[in-house]
Amino acid sequence: MIKAITFDLDDTLWDIWPVVERAERLLHDWLITHYPRIPEQFTPLELRELSQEVIATCPEIAHDRTRLRKEALWLAARRADYVEFDVESAFAVFFIARNAVEPFADVQPALERLARRYTLASLSNGNADLRLIGLHNLFAFSLNAIDVGAAKPAPLMFEQACQRLAARPEQVVHVGDDPEHDVFGAAQAGFRTVWVNRTGRDWLGGQPADAEITALAELEQVLTSWER
Ligand SMILES: [Mg+2]
Repeated sequence: MIKAITFDLDDTLWDIWPVVERAERLLHDWLITHYPRIPEQFTPLELRELSQEVIATCPEIAHDRTRLRKEALWLAARRADYVEFDVESAFAVFFIARNAVEPFADVQPALERLARRYTLASLSNGNADLRLIGLHNLFAFSLNAIDVGAAKPAPLMFEQACQRLAARPEQVVHVGDDPEHDVFGAAQAGFRTVWVNRTGRDWLGGQPADAEITALAELEQVLTSWER
């Protein structure tokens, strides 16, 4: 008996990298206006890569992409000799653009159908905001690595999802694109797993998912076959 479905967000319900790259360009443009010495010294990509330096010195915030971005921006500001820096406004420019995602065409119809039969929840390592994106009404709740305090594939997010769902792990199906974070992580937690492989990638992980789909439209059929 399947009670609930948990979904990864980025690269499962929409393409994230073109959106992040655009958000980084918009942030860079904003910095040209407000803190020009930062973009003189750093390209958008170099600003992103400062996150790796932050992780090296503060590994305890590696799961928190919002704090990582803010700390990386602070690092850039200090290196560009700014003593005062409005990190919240800078991050807001990035964050609004980062949530301007376009769900794949199959997403909304599939979620609407599935929501009639199952409880849906989202489990993300990123900082997507389903309210800004407009899909929040389809999900009973959303967990992310920032609130949970640990990123997938660690079991904590899956365990908290089971508590919120009042379900046993085997009653929950996790759907996601990432072989390690989604398939391995969810399987370790005892969930059934569906790998979303929209681009025909080869499976390079360990134990394969319980099912593989190329679009969310195929999910209902998979679930129906499991319930027989
Ligand atoms: Mg993903």
